[in-house]
Amino acid sequence: MSQTNANTQAAAEEKKPCVLIVDDSPDVHRLLRARLRQEEIDIISATNGQEAIQFAQEHVPAIILLDLDMPGMDGFEVLRTLKDTRLTVEIPVIMLSGLVATQDKVTAFELGSVDYITKPFEFTELRVRLRSALKLHKLVQLLGERARVDGLTGLWNRAYFDERWQEEFSRVSRTSRPLSIALFDVDHFKSVNDTFGHPAGDAVLTGLGKLLRQQGRASDIPCRYGGEEFCMIMPDTKPEDAIVLCERLRKSLEAMLWPRHPERKITMSIGVSGMTEASTLSAQQVIDDADQNLYQAKRTGRNRVFVGGRLAAPAADVGAVAAKAA
Ligand code: GH3
Ligand code: MG
Ligand code: MG
Repeated sequence: MSQTNANTQAAAEEKKPCVLIVDDSPDVHRLLRARLRQEEIDIISATNGQEAIQFAQEHVPAIILLDLDMPGMDGFEVLRTLKDTRLTVEIPVIMLSGLVATQDKVTAFELGSVDYITKPFEFTELRVRLRSALKLHKLVQLLGERARVDGLTGLWNRAYFDERWQEEFSRVSRTSRPLSIALFDVDHFKSVNDTFGHPAGDAVLTGLGKLLRQQGRASDIPCRYGGEEFCMIMPDTKPEDAIVLCERLRKSLEAMLWPRHPERKITMSIGVSGMTEASTLSAQQVIDDADQNLYQAKRTGRNRVFVGGRLAAPAADVGAVAAKAA
């Protein structure tokens, strides 16, 4: 899933699951729509293989009921294509077929379908099988989500970051579009815990998480990197533009008022790195640069954004520049 924020996740959970029915016979569509009217689902209909693949990619339905015997592209071919495509590989497919030969069933399961219902089917049976597949799909999705989201802040967790950073980095080599990354570390966070207690520290982390989510752009990917360190992957963003966003985030955090300790401001230091086009650096080296820059931001006084190191862009210490200008 492409998470932009936790709100989108919540909205997705509330939506009725969408079921794509693929069959070349209009009668089957009419019949299924009528019989599944009471179910808490939205139905989309495709009448051939090409349409099925197109709709599956456009809507990413919760489940696909797929006819096997169709003119042109048959159900096996559709299934193969769905399972070969990253966007549709996870969608459970129930085969709906007049073919009752064991070999057809075996082939369907080998290609990745989750169930096989033979025509003519009993509606009560179809209904319970559909319900059970939907329930399972929802559970799998929930588990997948949990495994990738940080429990305290609702941001993406480190495991997701590692995966996504590799993906975004490889995309740069293919497309030569810019990519930036920022590492954020709360200043003197240990003393927040020590002075005001661990729950107050947690509230700071939650507050910062919300700030990153709300003030980042929809395409940015905010993650909890570990402890009181966060990071933001910024696709299609040059380092010099990333600095502008980070500087805004830095100021916003500094301006925040904390109900548990209104007398104590919270600040963070930020290290930025990135590239304007495909680079000879490795994905890890770019993170190391950001980390080095974060270290420099800490070393030179904290509460600042630092970008330098091996960057193609001219080295700049925006925090210091901003402080001088003020
Ligand atoms: P610096 O300005 O150099 O970054 O100093 P710091 O005190 O922020 O950094 P340090 O690495 O010494 O301390 C980080 C602290 O963050 C220590 C750890 O107990 C705390 N911490 C890590 N995870 C959590 C968490 O989930 N909740 C709370 N409340 N504290 C956490
Ligand atoms: Mg730290
Ligand atoms: Mg810190």
